[in-house]
Amino acid sequence: MQRSIDALLKQAASALSDAGSDSPHIDAAVLLCHVLDKPRSYLLTWPEKELDDSQLSAFNALLARRLTGEPIAYIVGEREFWSLPLKVAPHTLIPRPDTERLVELALDKMPPQACTVLDLGTGTGAIALAIASECPQAQVTGIDLRPEAAALAEENRIRLGIANARFLSGSWYSPLDSQERFAVIVSNPPYIDATDPHLDQGDVRFEPKSALVADDEGLADIRIISEQGRLHLNAGGWLLLEHGYEQGQAVREILTSLGYQQVSTAQDYAGLDRVTLGCWQG
Ligand code: GLN
Repeated sequence: MQRSIDALLKQAASALSDAGSDSPHIDAAVLLCHVLDKPRSYLLTWPEKELDDSQLSAFNALLARRLTGEPIAYIVGEREFWSLPLKVAPHTLIPRPDTERLVELALDKMPPQACTVLDLGTGTGAIALAIASECPQAQVTGIDLRPEAAALAEENRIRLGIANARFLSGSWYSPLDSQERFAVIVSNPPYIDATDPHLDQGDVRFEPKSALVADDEGLADIRIISEQGRLHLNAGGWLLLEHGYEQGQAVREILTSLGYQQVSTAQDYAGLDRVTLGCWQG
């Protein structure tokens, strides 16, 4: 049996391609790097190097999981977001590149002086940790309904050595004191309608429905976050929400009808409506 790096990559990529992966070569390389605990450059430098028995069986086990469609991020337990390597687990959404747009827009609204920031539905802690890492003047709170997610976010915080963030567990604003106010509230909440066929495709099938699906055509959680956000924003504070590419108008209407000002929608890297923001004047 062939067991050189080069041969294994070719075989695996061909099997992954047959199984419908749209990134078979990258998938194969990422799994092999994970087994070998080496960077991608190693595969290119040592194409003839052979795997030993235990490496080979570990690689085959990971490959079998990917062939069933399981997301690479869950298999290797890690995904990079905002250049931060984050641990991920099946009870959290896998951080998406498009959510970095939400971070960029939030950074743009950050006051230069000491301030507080809230990330609702923090999952792996991706958004909270990205903002905390960029803004030493900010104290960032991340909240997740699931205690396992809040614990994972805290683990990511410790691994990354980020001191100015904390993670709490509970439904939306419930773990906070009624008095607590923030300069910026961000969220990538569930926003997909339960009947959306996209839920039966690709990586999304393996992600927790609780992180993806919301009632009321996907708008129920966005509405709750926006309504209650008025009680937790400083005067002049900003609310920024990620949403589906067809929800821009609906989210602008929600924010405007609740009294938010300067409401606008920004696009993701594909040019699609993705983040709506508004300012609370108090
Ligand atoms: N953007 C994600 C997707 O379409 C969904 C993220 C979310 O529901 N918050 O898969």
